Amino acid sequence: MTGFSLSRLLRRVRALLDPAKDPVPVELTDGWRGTGPVVLVGGFCTTELNLDPLRARLTRLGYAVTTYTVGSGLGCGRRTVADLKDVVRAAARAAGSPVRLLGYSRGGQFARAVAADPSMPVSSLVTLGTPFDVYGVSVPLRLQAAALAVAGTLGVPGLFTLSCFYGTCCASFHDGLRAVPEVPFTAVYSREDRLVRWRACLDPAARTIEVPGSHLGLLVDHEPLRAVAEALGACDASPVPA
Ligand SMILES: [Zn+2]
Repeated sequence: MTGFSLSRLLRRVRALLDPAKDPVPVELTDGWRGTGPVVLVGGFCTTELNLDPLRARLTRLGYAVTTYTVGSGLGCGRRTVADLKDVVRAAARAAGSPVRLLGYSRGGQFARAVAADPSMPVSSLVTLGTPFDVYGVSVPLRLQAAALAVAGTLGVPGLFTLSCFYGTCCASFHDGLRAVPEVPFTAVYSREDRLVRWRACLDPAARTIEVPGSHLGLLVDHEPLRAVAEALGACDASPVPA
């Protein structure tokens, strides 16, 4: 019974997040080119398929892109951040240089928590449609998340629990969301985003860039790609941590 309800719930969440929009052709500009490792972090219910257009474009621009969608953004934040730190360390080791972290939606929360740890080999942080508070998403999405948290609390594996949101489990993760990263931090957001409250994407620690389009459009549209490419390129000139 729980399994059936859970799969139905996940289908509903995916329907909210995926308006079946096809990636649009985007012209890549030479000035956007760059090198080095990028770790692209997916958010709530994000699949590899969702990240694929952005991953492919950044690869064509010259970056070595690693995607991270483990648990589809539905797991405990504290454990996800610990896991993502291992991925970032491995990408930096393989490339011999610090990583640019790029987080989409809830993935930007995980990325920020990693970037805020000064011991991590991270050179910059870019977030795409990432709310920096628990209530930064639309009401339907919040209700679905609450239902998933109840399922996780009842023992369904791989899901966050009520303790992650309201208890002590993810306290260190929530602290990481408020910490100020010591690396260049750019937050890209859209006022047309109907899943995430755009005001929740603004952070005093970030340089903010407004773009047009929907939440999923942040992964496939031209203007968000331009904002990402320019933010990734700008950090070439910035000091990077050892
Ligand atoms: Zn937790």
